[in-house]
Amino acid sequence: MTDVVLDGVDKVYPGGQVAVRNVRLRINDGELFVLLGPSGCGKSTILRMIAGLEEITSGVLWLNGAVANELSPRDRNVAMVFQEGALYPHRTVKGNMMFPLEVLGDDRAEATAKVVELARALGINTMIDRLPRTLSGGQRQRAAIGRALIREPSLFLMDEPLSSLDAGLRTELRVEIAALVRSSGTTTVYVTHDQVEAMTMADRMAVLRDGVLEDVGTPEQIYQD
Ligand code: ADP
Ligand code: ADP
Repeated sequence: MTDVVLDGVDKVYPGGQVAVRNVRLRINDGELFVLLGPSGCGKSTILRMIAGLEEITSGVLWLNGAVANELSPRDRNVAMVFQEGALYPHRTVKGNMMFPLEVLGDDRAEATAKVVELARALGINTMIDRLPRTLSGGQRQRAAIGRALIREPSLFLMDEPLSSLDAGLRTELRVEIAALVRSSGTTTVYVTHDQVEAMTMADRMAVLRDGVLEDVGTPEQIYQD
C-alpha cells in the first residue's frame, strides 16, 4: 500500500543535462498510473528516482507519507521491470521467480506454491522448468513480471516492458498486465511512449514533454477533445 508524491522534483544529470523539471504529481494508492511521452522526455528518469536508482537534484519525493531518501531499499519495497526482462540466464523460470523469496528466507514449499500460482496467472505455468533463452520474448517478459510481483511489492514500476515485442503480442500483453496489476491492488507506474498503450491501460496518466509535465488525468480527461 503506497502512494507516491513528487513535489517540485528536478533532475539535472552530472554534465548539466536537465532531464526533469519541477514535476508535481500524486500517484494514488492502488492506481495503475502511466507516464507517457516521446523518447528522451524524462520518463525513465522519473521512474528511476521513484525506485531510488537515481538521486533527486531538488524537490521532494514522498513514498507512503515518508521522505523517500530517508527510506532503506527494504522499506521502499519497490519492484521494477525493464524493456528486456534481464532474467538470470542460468536459472529456470521457476528459479528466477523463486529468487526474491529465497532472499527473504521464505519457506521453500510455500514459496514454490506461490510461484506456481503466479506462473499460472501469467500463463507460463507449463514452462517454469525452462531456461529464459528457450522462451519467446513475451514469455520472458511474463517471467520477469512474475519475478517482480512474487514478493508482493508496495510499488511496481515498469519501464517500456513491451517495447521489444511485436505489435500483436503487445496488444495481448498490455490487457493482461493491466488486469493482473489491478487484481493485485499494487500501486503501479508504467512508462511508455505508445499513446494507445497508455490510453488502454491507465487509470490515470501524465503526459511529459522535455522533462515537464504537460497534462495529468484519466485518459478520457486527456483525450476528450
Ligand atoms: P530509454 O529511452 O529507454 O530511457 P536510453 O537509450 O535513453 O533508454 O538510455 C539507456 C541508458 O543510457 C539509461 O541507463 C540512461 O541512464 C543512459 N543514458 C541515456 N542518455 C544518456 C546520456 N546523455 N548520457 C549518459 N547516459 C545516458
Ligand atoms: P525517456 O525515458 O523519456 O526516454 P530519460 O529519462 O531516459 O527519457 O532521459 C531524459 C533525458 O536525460 C534525455 O535527454 C537523456 O539523454 C538524459 N539522460 C538520461 N540518463 C542520463 C544519464 N545517466 N546521464 C546524462 N543524461 C541522461
